[in-house]
Amino acid sequence: MMDFSDQVVIVTGASRGIGRGIAEAFAKAGAKVACVATTQAGADQTAAAIGGRGYACDVSDAAAVEALIEAVIADLGVPSVLVNNAGITRDTLILRMKDEDWDRVIDVNLKGAFLMCRAVAKPMMKARYGRIINLSSVIGLGGGAGQANYAAAKAGVLGLTMSIAKELGSRNITCNAIAPGFIETDMTHDLPEDFRAQVEKTAPAGRLGTAEDIAPAVLFLASKEAAYITGQTLVVDGGLTL
Ligand code: NAP
Repeated sequence: MMDFSDQVVIVTGASRGIGRGIAEAFAKAGAKVACVATTQAGADQTAAAIGGRGYACDVSDAAAVEALIEAVIADLGVPSVLVNNAGITRDTLILRMKDEDWDRVIDVNLKGAFLMCRAVAKPMMKARYGRIINLSSVIGLGGGAGQANYAAAKAGVLGLTMSIAKELGSRNITCNAIAPGFIETDMTHDLPEDFRAQVEKTAPAGRLGTAEDIAPAVLFLASKEAAYITGQTLVVDGGLTL
C-alpha cells in the first residue's frame, strides 16, 4: 500500500462517486485530505466519514479557487497532491446543444482544472514537489455522440495535462491524466439498460467500473515512486476501448 502520511491532498468533486472513492483511498493511506464540493454539506459528509476537511468551492470560479487554496494551506499545509475530479455532463445532440450547455461543461471540467492547477502551481513550485492528476474520460479520447461539450472538455484536459507536465517538470512536479471508462456513479445512473448490457458484453472485464477501480490508479500516479511518469493518460476502463 502506498504511503501518503502527512501529505496534503486536494480532491475536487469529493462529495460523491469517483471523487469520494479517491478521497477515501488517500485517507486510508494516511493523507490529510481536503474534500471539495459545491456545497459545504456535501464536502463535509465525505470529510466526516474519512477524517478529512470539507471545503465548498465552485471550481469554475477563479476567486473561489484562489480562496480555497489559501484556506487549505492555512488549515492543513501546502498540498503535495491535487486531483482534479470535479465534473459534470450536459448531454444532448449538437443541433439541440445550447450555448449554456457548452459553456457550463467546459467551465467546470476544463476551466476548473486549469484554475486549480494555476492556483497550486506556485506553492508546489516553492516546495519543489507536486503531483497533479486530472480526470479525463475515454470520451475525451474517442468522442461521444450527444457529448460534444463533454468530449471537447475532456480532450482539452489532456492538452492541459501535457502542457503542465512540460512547464513544471523541472520543479519535480508531475501531471498525468486518468481516462475512466463507464463507472457506476450518479453520472452514469441514467444510462439506458441496453447500453449498460453492451458495455458488460464488450469490456473484457465484463462489467462497469466502480470508484474503487479508479482510486488505485490515482494513488499510483500521485506516489513519490511515479516520479518518472508525466504527461501521460492512463485508461482505466476494464479494456472497453481496446
Ligand atoms: P458524479 O458522481 O456526478 O460527482 C461529481 C462530483 O463533482 C460531485 O462531487 C460534485 O459535487 C462535483 N462538482 C460538480 N460540479 C462542481 C463544481 N462546479 N465545483 C466543484 N465540484 C463540482 O461524477 P463521477 O461519475 O464521480 O465523475 C467524477 C469525474 O470522473 C468527472 O470529472 C467525470 O467527468 C469523470 N468521469 C466519470 C466517468 C463515469 O463513468 N462516471 C467516466 C469517465 C470520467 P456536488 O456534490 O457538490 O454537486
